[in-house]
Amino acid sequence: MAPHSVVVVGAGQAGLETAAALRARGFAGRVTLVGDEPPGPCHRPPLSKGYLTGTVSAEDVPLRPAAFYAEQDIELLTGDRATVVDRDRRTVLLESGLRLPYGALVLATGCRPRTLPVPGSSLSGVRVLRGLADAEDLRLRLDGPPLRIVVAGAGFIGLEVAATARGLGHEVTVVEPQSRVLTRALTPEVADHVVAEHRAHGVTVLTSRHITVLHGDGERRVRAVELSGGERLDADLVVTGIGVLPNTELAAASGLAVENGVAVDEQLRTADPAIWAVGDCASFPGVPGLNGAHTGGRTRLESVQNATDQARCAAAAICGEPYAYTAVPRFWSDQYTLRLQMAGLTAGADETVTAGDPAGGRFSVFCFRAGRLIGVESVNRPADHGIAARLLANGTALSAATVREPGFDLKRLPRTPPSATPAVPDSPTTPTASPSGSTLQERLTVHA
Ligand code: FAD
Ligand code: NAP
Repeated sequence: MAPHSVVVVGAGQAGLETAAALRARGFAGRVTLVGDEPPGPCHRPPLSKGYLTGTVSAEDVPLRPAAFYAEQDIELLTGDRATVVDRDRRTVLLESGLRLPYGALVLATGCRPRTLPVPGSSLSGVRVLRGLADAEDLRLRLDGPPLRIVVAGAGFIGLEVAATARGLGHEVTVVEPQSRVLTRALTPEVADHVVAEHRAHGVTVLTSRHITVLHGDGERRVRAVELSGGERLDADLVVTGIGVLPNTELAAASGLAVENGVAVDEQLRTADPAIWAVGDCASFPGVPGLNGAHTGGRTRLESVQNATDQARCAAAAICGEPYAYTAVPRFWSDQYTLRLQMAGLTAGADETVTAGDPAGGRFSVFCFRAGRLIGVESVNRPADHGIAARLLANGTALSAATVREPGFDLKRLPRTPPSATPAVPDSPTTPTASPSGSTLQERLTVHA
């Protein structure tokens, strides 16, 4: 039986989608969405891209217009923070003193950026990028005379900010401790293509280098970055994109298991039958070769698709229609004119085959493990991405030998029957209108 009320802690992508999916499934009880970020649920992807250049405005960023919450009877409490979960009494205490009873509780607390663990990291001009306030600060800095910018970390945040800042005419150096860029997310084939594009645009990319100290001036403004070996880079601005940490403190304090994220089962439920966790903060038993690591064990994913699909899965379970979370992971990144799209998890591939036209900047890398397709990374090949995601979801066999055949084209493969994954209704979307006529929701989802 569905509970009488649901409290969702964390008003990001996963929290908002949970509330919306509950209503889409006809849940009639009370739904309360609590978030500590004042603007309420926002799209994060544009914050490292169009928001910094001004092609996406502050009005485009909310995930839903203000009217949505009243229309859907979702109580949105922003600028407040859940501080205690009393599991015996099934209540959540907020910083404001408000006490919310729940029949079901969904933790959608997301992640926070890691900060540089070196002397000088608290100097002014050393910034992280997670929320709208961070992006607004960065946008104002980039909207001025050319700066010398050092980007710490060559993950998605670092490289997207580097591409954007370079496009705005700033001098950019990226410093990455690993021997190559995007080690977590991409194969060397695609990562090398990305780094070549950055260098062609005039970004300096330094790999196998550690930042050891940040030096400031008399006014405690950052002025230089020192690297291992003593090399010094002049800097007016340092942007750190060195990964994130899951916000698990609330769960841990209430006695729930934490294993690099709030530990949940296949249906995203914690060991407490009244509590679920979704999105960036949730650590779930992924299926190897599908949405789990090839080594087995728990998975925690950081993407819009994962936040959205997990939210729908948890909402279904709360409404008494549970299913296992097996969605194929999908990611995207836009840098310069590169549209990178990834389907599946490619870490652990033991064989890769490139198809298409790498020299022309339009290709896909097919990744196999023990002869089985586990993921496809596409560069400016959106059709490949869509088809690859369907093949992976359906478990359709595709061999490396087939991909190697001359003239191989995914579009010519026979269409596979629909996935066995249970259909989940779309959230009741009231997309945010944008000046260009298309909606931001459309412009974002077209990439995923
Ligand atoms: P979050 O968005 O982190 O939301 C969690 C919310 O909960 C936060 O507002 C947090 O402050 C709040 N919270 C935490 N604890 C409490 C508490 N105790 N009480 C109340 N509130 C609390 N993904 C892609 O797939 N494609 C992209 O192109 C892409 N670009 C990105 C660009 C940027 C700049 C960033 C930062 C991320 C990007 N991502 C992208 C990642 C994607 O945005 C995240 O994976 C997704 O937003 C995660 O959603 P979430 O709701 O799980 O977490
Ligand atoms: P990330 O993908 O984890 O990349 C961080 C990179 O920084 C890693 O290569 C990491 O190396 C490196 N690093 C760690 N410590 C460092 C240090 N001290 N100095 C310099 N580099 C260091 O994380 P991110 O790029 O910061 O992104 C943050 C979050 O935003 C993630 O959840 C990401 O998925 C999300 N995001 C997604 C997109 C997208 O999907 N397009 C875009 C933007 C942001 P190690 O591996 O050695 O730690």
